[in-house]
Amino acid sequence: MAMDHVDDTAGDSGADGATGVGAAHGAGSSGDLERELASVVGGLRTHLEWLLGLGVSHAPAGPTPRSSPPSADGVETSGDTQAGDAVMGSGNTLSLLDNPGPGREGLAAVRGLLGDCQRCRLSRDRVQIVFGQGNPTADLMFVGEGPGRDEDLQGKAFVGAAGRLLTKMIQAMGHHREDVFIANVVKCRPPRNRNPEPDEMASCEPFLLAQIRAIRPTVIVTLGRFAAQTLLQTDQSIGRLRGRLHTFHLDGDQVALCPTYHPAYLLRNPGAKRAVWEDLQLVMALLDRPASGR
Ligand code: SF4
Repeated sequence: MAMDHVDDTAGDSGADGATGVGAAHGAGSSGDLERELASVVGGLRTHLEWLLGLGVSHAPAGPTPRSSPPSADGVETSGDTQAGDAVMGSGNTLSLLDNPGPGREGLAAVRGLLGDCQRCRLSRDRVQIVFGQGNPTADLMFVGEGPGRDEDLQGKAFVGAAGRLLTKMIQAMGHHREDVFIANVVKCRPPRNRNPEPDEMASCEPFLLAQIRAIRPTVIVTLGRFAAQTLLQTDQSIGRLRGRLHTFHLDGDQVALCPTYHPAYLLRNPGAKRAVWEDLQLVMALLDRPASGR
């Protein structure tokens, strides 16, 4: 697998409903219009710089009138639907989130659809969207619940104290952090690090699923109960879910999924490290097996 690195450093700093395009509807003065245009252009420039940083030579297609059949890669765009709205799966339109394409460019397409997302209330207090980062074709993917303060400030997943512990876990498994992909269920920091609400997770889940479609990992390790419950669609506790491999079903494919405790929990409860190590050994044994059918 390629070992290149996707790193979301998109500058969503300061994004909030008051400065978004939608909030500017009804602006009456030319000054308001100029500020709106400056905001749009600034956001577009930031996103294009992010794509260039990935080495992507062209941006994902925006909404265009559909006068021709779907392209050969099976990705359709709807003539009267904003790309972001395709997330909601209008009619029979196959959204980009359903088929973002593989690897780096697939992730870039997902990030493009996310845009300056304001689909849930978590957009109000974030500094920036934390998309996730790592190897875009990783065998091993980690999914946590949401960014914390450090992640919100830096725009990267798992960079605080819990992130440093996660790095040690990855290294103990014989990998480098750059080898794996790290993401969260919600991509904006919940205020005061509260738990994400069900509707917030539901709003953001399509983007996580699209990331998984692009990366196609062999194993997903979920960190904490929210990631496990979201992907396994269960309300069982993490204590009951961990300790064995599960099967995550996506588009008819099956991906091994290993729930374990969140590194932040381990920082408060070091005694649980043994259980986590047992979980990670299950993953290591699976990854050591010869790949089949990928
Ligand atoms: S948490 Fe997800 S759905 Fe909610 S605003 Fe952030 S990116 Fe959008």
